[in-house]
Amino acid sequence: MSESITVAGVSVDTRHWIGGRRVASAGTFTDHSPIDGSAVGEIARGGPDEAEAAVGAARDAFPGWAATPRAERARILHAVADGVEKRTEELAIVETTDNGALLRSHRRGVMPRVAHNFRFFADWLLRLDHEDFETRGHTNHVSWDPAGPCVLITPWNAPLMLATWKVAPALAAGNTVVLKPAEWSPLTASLLADIAAEAGLPAGVLNVVQGYGSEIGDALTSHPDVRRISFTGSVPTARRIAASAAANLTPLSLELGGKSPLLVFADADLDLAVDLAVEQYDNAGQVCLAATRLLVEEPVVEEFTRRFTEKASALRQGDPRDEGTDIGPTIHPRQLEKIDGFVQRALAAGARAVIGGHRKDGQYYAPTLLTDVAQDSEIVQEEVFGPVLTLQTFTGEDEAVRLADDTRFGLAATVATGDRERAERVTARLVAGTVWVNCFFVRDLQAPFGGSRQSGVGREGGTWSFDFYCDLKNTVTAPEGWDQDHG
Ligand code: NAD
Repeated sequence: MSESITVAGVSVDTRHWIGGRRVASAGTFTDHSPIDGSAVGEIARGGPDEAEAAVGAARDAFPGWAATPRAERARILHAVADGVEKRTEELAIVETTDNGALLRSHRRGVMPRVAHNFRFFADWLLRLDHEDFETRGHTNHVSWDPAGPCVLITPWNAPLMLATWKVAPALAAGNTVVLKPAEWSPLTASLLADIAAEAGLPAGVLNVVQGYGSEIGDALTSHPDVRRISFTGSVPTARRIAASAAANLTPLSLELGGKSPLLVFADADLDLAVDLAVEQYDNAGQVCLAATRLLVEEPVVEEFTRRFTEKASALRQGDPRDEGTDIGPTIHPRQLEKIDGFVQRALAAGARAVIGGHRKDGQYYAPTLLTDVAQDSEIVQEEVFGPVLTLQTFTGEDEAVRLADDTRFGLAATVATGDRERAERVTARLVAGTVWVNCFFVRDLQAPFGGSRQSGVGREGGTWSFDFYCDLKNTVTAPEGWDQDHG
């Protein structure tokens, strides 16, 4: 295999990054661009041997990195952020070529956030307090000890943003990392390895292995030297990972799928509610947090639907590299197939397409709104992960909350209302990791992030990330002259 490929003018090494060296595999897999389906390159296809080598490198590098003073770890993480900022354009165009999300979002939103992930956790590390408590003169000193090698497994819908949301706190905490990006979008993880090495991160502290989850995943997640596994992806994969991690009782953080509702009350600012609803087509609907179930109060449903249709119909779908494009392609022919399967089954079961309901050329799917759908139907209960929304009506808060909460997920919910007291009542009753009121997607990294029910296990963000990535230790020291027998 050739060692590197040129993607939109950017050189990307296609091999793994293990112990500070590029490592090839006997086999490769082909990475395609969703923009036109063209082959981007052959990527090293890792298996158990590469998993073993990467975990070994992380294990060997751990004592040195764990003992590195916090201020030095923070300095290196800021240097990684500098490198991301310097290479924003390159990262943005490579990510867009690889996963089809909008270039303008990568430039202006995503890559700045990637850099922020490193800066935020570097700064937070320096603010982590060592707490002391006292019992009968004894000091209880609580410290945040690094846990060890961490396996981080990420999906394709926001590759570098989701990877660095885990990599940054794991490294800040003093752990070493094996990152496995998704096989449909592996390229920016390789660039991150280059950036981290240039920033002075010691060899073996960050390792990147590529390949199919079914081939390399189990060897990573069942490895006895791995101390933490953080996974973002689908519920079925999470089940397999949890089963594999059970062998060593390795602690898991799971950030999974959703089927989140947008509740539009009759007292809402309807233009705002329509904006929030149309925003759910971002990234061609391939967003875990997307509020794909529109629940609209009866008296305003007609007007809401009219305004929504007008606005959604004006969205421009096409090449994600063009500044004017609003919706790009879906990631992969298999994803397109899956999305269309959900829609066609819903239509066959009696749903009506208000807009869309069909494929377009290439890997593009028409933004779709389906109505006349039953609460217990597949299209309302299952995550489609494409530009497909459903519309249902309700009357009053009780019915709104009942419909909103009636899935196995609990990742997020959005409420549009002009009544603050109603917002408080309704948000208090919703089961979700994040609830937005009259807004969407805004989130402070200090706040906990995660899902309830089958949308996840655990929370990350701010101190919660360090809770997960550290072994908390309580050291109890007796006062001078303490006599254990007669104290
Ligand atoms: P996926 O579960 O198919 O794959 C995710 C990752 O897991 C990939 O890297 C894949 O190679 C790996 N994997 C697959 N099988 C494995 C195994 N047996 N062992 C170890 N790793 C394995 O998910 P996807 O299709 O890439 O991503 C879409 C899903 O991710 C959606 O359900 C979406 O909601 C969810 N998601 C959740 C969040 C969140 O923060 N809650 C964010 C983004 C995406």
